[in-house]
Formats: sequence, structure tokens, C-alpha cells
Amino acid sequence: VVDADQTFVIVGGGLAGAKAAQTLREESFTGRVILIGDELDHPYERPPLSKALLTGEKERDSVYVHDAAWYANHDIELHLGQTVTHLDRAAKSVRLGDGSVIRYDKLLLVTGAEPRRLDIPGTHLAGVHHLRRIAHAELLRGVLASLGRENGRLLIAGAGWIGLEVAAAARGYGVEVTVVEPEPTPLHTVLGPELGAVFTDLHREHGVTFHFGARLTGITGQDGMVYAATTDDGDEHPAHAVLAAIGAAPRTALAESAGLALAARAEGGGIAVDASLRTSDPDIYAAGDAANAEHPLLGRRLRVEHWANALNGGPAAARAMLGHEVSYDRLPYFFSDQYDLGLEYSGYAAPGDYDQVVCRGDVAKRQFIAFWLREGRVLAGMNVNVWDVTAPIQTLIRSRTQVDPQALSDPTVPLESLTQR
Ligand SMILES: Cc1cc2nc3c(=O)[nH]c(=O)nc-3n(C[C@H](O)[C@H](O)[C@H](O)COP(=O)(O)OP(=O)(O)OC[C@H]3O[C@@H](n4cnc5c(N)ncnc54)[C@H](O)[C@@H]3O)c2cc1C
Repeated sequence: VVDADQTFVIVGGGLAGAKAAQTLREESFTGRVILIGDELDHPYERPPLSKALLTGEKERDSVYVHDAAWYANHDIELHLGQTVTHLDRAAKSVRLGDGSVIRYDKLLLVTGAEPRRLDIPGTHLAGVHHLRRIAHAELLRGVLASLGRENGRLLIAGAGWIGLEVAAAARGYGVEVTVVEPEPTPLHTVLGPELGAVFTDLHREHGVTFHFGARLTGITGQDGMVYAATTDDGDEHPAHAVLAAIGAAPRTALAESAGLALAARAEGGGIAVDASLRTSDPDIYAAGDAANAEHPLLGRRLRVEHWANALNGGPAAARAMLGHEVSYDRLPYFFSDQYDLGLEYSGYAAPGDYDQVVCRGDVAKRQFIAFWLREGRVLAGMNVNVWDVTAPIQTLIRSRTQVDPQALSDPTVPLESLTQR
């Protein structure tokens, strides 16, 4: 039972933080809830930043988790534009950039992730971009619009989700796009080569140029502005802007300096938490992009950098902070939109984990479901321009049923029937 005079502090004003604060109030917690974020905006959702906000279909008003008044209405003390610089576990307090100190009874670290930086000459030039925050997206949107008007060229480092979504948005503005990617296909480490090829074709059909098997070695400038980029195979690519979309690193500095256990880099890094999202300190929890949790169903540690994990993990951590029994066993889930292709992916099939890929539907028409299997059991499923199948896909994964690949690939066999044998 949690006393009303307790103070719960949440560090990180993203989706996980906002949803955790909301859950504390929904679960009737009457103590103080303090939410601290280093951005000036109140918590918002990042997926539109590489999609509708970038294309101009949506404006910034549409991305906020709650409107600004909601926090005061729910008695949540919001400190924006404030970085937590120090965590003192012995005193159970955090220090903010302005020197103020806030004591906590329970602490939640939802510090998210930050874009990895290119470690090459020329990244200081005007025209080198990253994409994580609203301000990045609004800046990039202006850049894409002007490049489109002036037959400009954008070079994207990295054919991951963000790189591909920005490529699609940029083509919408008429920008010439080149994507440089060390692997032989887009999304190689997420989808493997079989399904990665679907995205090569999709983007090529929309006029994107891929340069696979190469890394950027430098960005050259003229008058302080991007002029070209070079790759390790000796090629030079003309470019007026560069987007570094080479992944994100969990923001663990605070946890690390306070001596909390971190997950090994090979396991995805991040703040190590158990299945109840508790760190190595019993009064400190972590969730969202920053956390690396024991997954009760998958039997391994996992750091998930996706919207649904912040949406559900923040609330799960909040309930654990209130003393509820929590075993966070949601399957990883994410979505993406590129041109007229929409997809959802559930489960986890790391490279080398699966021994078979089975598709049902029409891959050439990009209307299908792909399944990754090991020894006949479905590890992950991705529906592409096919909708309302997430529930049966997740049931298949959770059930660990050995399925007949023939039946799995046959669209006339209902997915639900495969788990009812
Ligand atoms: C461009 C883009 C597109 C995406 N698209 C998709 C998508 O299509 N589908 C999908 O599933 N996922 C998508 N994601 C991923 C998804 O947005 C993240 O998984 C989600 O934002 C994680 O939420 P979070 O609350 O854990 O962290 P964040 O959203 O990163 O929030 C953490 C917050 O904490 C702040 N912070 C960090 N350290 C401190 C500190 N010491 N003091 C104070 N504040 C601090 C950060 O500045 C940040 O505001 C996308 C991400 C990006 C960047």
C-alpha cells in the first residue's frame, strides 16, 4: 500500500513518462507525481516525425500525448526544459540542471534514446541532420520542401525504419534521394534478406537510389554547407543535405553514474530491469527505449525501441511502482508507413534465430503476411497492407504451436484455426 504523502518522480518527458504519470492517477495514487523532461514541449509521440509531420499532412498540435492543461488538471507537476543531471540513490533524490533537488520515494527512468552520430569528417557542416525531436522534424520538413523546389539531393545514411520513412517523405517533395547502407538490403538486421528486398523494390520504384555494402567516410562542404559525401568504396555522392539515420543509443548516463546495472551492449544495452521493470535498485524502475527488460515469454533480455513498448511499458512500470504484481510480457510490436505501404510487425526473430520464412498473400503486390519460423513455430509476423490480423498473429507466436507451413501460407486457412489444433 502506497501512502498519499509519497513522491513519485519520473525522469523523461516522452510517451513512456506521460503514460506512466497517467496510470499513477488512474490507479488512484494520491501522492505527488513529478514529471521532468529536458525538451521544451510537453510529451509527444515521435512516429509522425518521420511520417505525417514531415510530409506536412499533420501539424505539431496533433502529436501531443495530452494537451498542456491535462497535466495540471491531473495534479502532475511538469518540469520542462530541465535536465536531470544527478541521481543520488543514498539520499533518494535527483538534481536538476538549475541546481534544484527533488526527493523521491520511487523513481522511474524513461530517458529514451538519442540518435547515433556519424563519426566521420564533415558532420559539423550545415545540412547534416538527425531526427528525434519535433524541432528536427520541422527543420527537416523545410529542408525537404526547398530541396524539392531546387532539384536538390538528400543523402540518407542508414536504410532502417527512419531512413526509409524519410526517403519516402523526401520523394513526396520531389527530392533526389540516395540511401547508403552497409548491409545488402534495407532493414537487414530486423527482417533479414528475404523481406528486406521488398523494401529495395518499393523504394526503387519510387525513384530512390540505393548504395548497398558501403559506409560513409566523409562529408565535404562548400561555404560551410554540405556539397557531397564519400563512401569507403571510393565513390562520391553529390548531396545538399545528409540525414544520419544510423540508429539510436539508449540514454543511460544517469543510471550508469548512479551505479545501476546496465545490460551488455551485445544484449542491446540500456538500463537492466527485471520482468516487473525494476532496476538493480528496488526503488527505481525503467521503461521504454532506455530499458532492457527480461522478457518472461521470450526467455531473454530485450531492449525494444518502439512506440507500443513506451505506450504499455510506462503504465506497467507505474503499476509495479504502486506495488502491483507485474510481469511485462507484451510481444514487441511496431508499425511503419512508406508511400502506400503500411505494415505492422509482432514478435522477435533476430538474425540467425529463424530457419524459415513463410509468406501468405501476394508479395509482388505488397499485400501479404510474412512469418519467421524456427522448427515450425512462429517467432514473428509482419502484415503488409493486410489489416486486423495482429491478434491472431500474436496468438500464434504466444501459443508456440508447431504449424504446417503449407497451411500458414494458404490465405484460405484462417490464422485462428492454426492455434486450435
Ligand atoms: C522519427 C521517429 C519515428 C518513429 N517511428 C516509429 C514508428 O513508426 N513505430 C514505432 O513503433 N516506433 C517509432 N519510433 C520509436 C518511438 O517513438 C520510441 O520507441 C518512443 O518514442 C520511446 O518513448 P520513450 O518515452 O521511451 O522515450 P523518448 O520518446 O525518447 O522520451 C524520452 C524523453 O526523456 C528526455 N530525457 C532523457 N534524459 C533526460 C534527463 N536526464 N533529464 C530530463 N529529460 C531527459 C528526452 O529528451 C526525451 O524527451 C520512432 C522514433 C522516431 C525518433
